[in-house]
Amino acid sequence: MDFEGFLKDLSSFLDKNQILLEKEDVLFYSLDRTKDFEPNGSCVVFPKSTEEVQKIVLLANQYKIPLVPSGGRTGYSGGAVATNQEVIISLSKMNRILEFDATLPAITCEAGVITKHLQEKAKEHHFYFPVDFASSYSSLIGGNIATNAGGIRVIRYGSLRNWVSGIEVVTGKGEVLNLWGKLIKNNTGYDLKQLFIGSEGTLGIITKATLLLTQIPKNTVVFLISCKNFSDVLECLKESKHHIKEILCFEVFDSSCMELVCSKHQLKNPFSNVPSDVWYVLIEAEIHQDEEIPYMDFINSIADFSIDVLYSTTESIKKGFFRFREDISEAVAMSGRFHKNDISIPISYMDQFIKNIKELVNQHYKDYQLFLFGHAGDGNIHVNLLTSYEKDINQFKKEMQEFDLQLYGMIKHYNGSISAEHGIGLLKKPYLLYTRSPQEIEYMKSIKKIFDPNNILNPGKIFDL
Ligand SMILES: Cc1cc2nc3c(=O)[nH]c(=O)nc-3n(C[C@H](O)[C@H](O)[C@H](O)COP(=O)(O)OP(=O)(O)OC[C@H]3O[C@@H](n4cnc5c(N)ncnc54)[C@H](O)[C@@H]3O)c2cc1C
Repeated sequence: MDFEGFLKDLSSFLDKNQILLEKEDVLFYSLDRTKDFEPNGSCVVFPKSTEEVQKIVLLANQYKIPLVPSGGRTGYSGGAVATNQEVIISLSKMNRILEFDATLPAITCEAGVITKHLQEKAKEHHFYFPVDFASSYSSLIGGNIATNAGGIRVIRYGSLRNWVSGIEVVTGKGEVLNLWGKLIKNNTGYDLKQLFIGSEGTLGIITKATLLLTQIPKNTVVFLISCKNFSDVLECLKESKHHIKEILCFEVFDSSCMELVCSKHQLKNPFSNVPSDVWYVLIEAEIHQDEEIPYMDFINSIADFSIDVLYSTTESIKKGFFRFREDISEAVAMSGRFHKNDISIPISYMDQFIKNIKELVNQHYKDYQLFLFGHAGDGNIHVNLLTSYEKDINQFKKEMQEFDLQLYGMIKHYNGSISAEHGIGLLKKPYLLYTRSPQEIEYMKSIKKIFDPNNILNPGKIFDL
């Protein structure tokens, strides 16, 4: 690997300020939000055009230098992590909004646009980009597409895949593919762009995208409901699907989450006299006319399955309800040594699955506190375990590795997924077989070899070749 030769050739078309070599800077760009890996990239490059991306990829093929595509590095799977002297290729300087098309409606932009900027641009045109999550201020469009990001409104809008009309991509071979038509109908063979969405930077580098927009949800109501068990939560879900036409989100969290958020942020549980072990449901829905009590038929239908129902159409109160759900991740992270899993299960098995997790933790992980929350309307649950900082770090790692194996065994049993939203990256790579069959993995490897025959792009992510 002639790194010096590679750098010299890079310098022939990149300016000095497009190449970072200072150790501290490179280490900073070598990590995403995972804390499990030793950062060790060799340098960071900042292309400003598709042509520069292509030249970098061609050069990397010539010198056999591995590349790590990098967005906002908010990922939770180690997909954007560089541990092996890779060159990090950051799309952050390719951040132009290129076009608004009111007829689709859609926005075409470069891959380095920050998610929030795209949302704001859509709003300026009185439209809405509906894929939204807490990292929207720092994640980039290319990273969102490469991870097929989800968020809290998947139940209504689906994940990012549904909103990509087209992409431009530089493959691992260095070819530029324009898979970015604005066509609504195009049945002309395989839809190759779908392969790149969710491929975690292993097949190609996304350089541009055309993203569809929709109408801004106008009037909404938010319900906060307490239920005595998870089976009642599922009854509420069924009833909501009967009675509420436009559910924007259906989120759940257990009483451990509520207690922790209240104590960390000096908030008061809005329900009085709740029993100690309950579930909370947060539903946001669109309303189209001014009813005094929105969706009264829904409220009546869950009378037997809920302890109490609160609702509001007032912005500040709705925001207050959302805080109980949105602040959970951060509250857990502030409270000790924590371990996260983001998994999904067919919704009909969720009740039994949750009983199994609780049994497992009660029997074998007595010095851990379990926090269950997530996007229940999509079968997506975050399983978080928390223990004290006093626990020895190596013991913690060993126990959490054992826990994961037991958890993934259960997920396999219920035909679920070990990664609902965050991807496989490096973190979940050893466990891919719990969700994908050997044949599927072989097909994935064959596809990788077609687009990236020299294994230049994100080698060692998702699977090893
Ligand atoms: C507080 C918080 C909340 C979050 N909530 C959610 C959530 O609700 N739902 C959800 O799905 N995710 C969530 N995430 C995870 C993360 O924000 C998303 O996955 C996000 O879309 C990643 O974008 P990024 O630009 O940060 O990508 P990065 O982390 O930089 O990269 C992610 C992967 O994409 C690849 N990649 C990056 N850019 C490109 C490109 N241009 N071309 C090809 N490959 C590329 C990388 O190599 C890596 O494999 C959350 C993260 C945080 C920190």
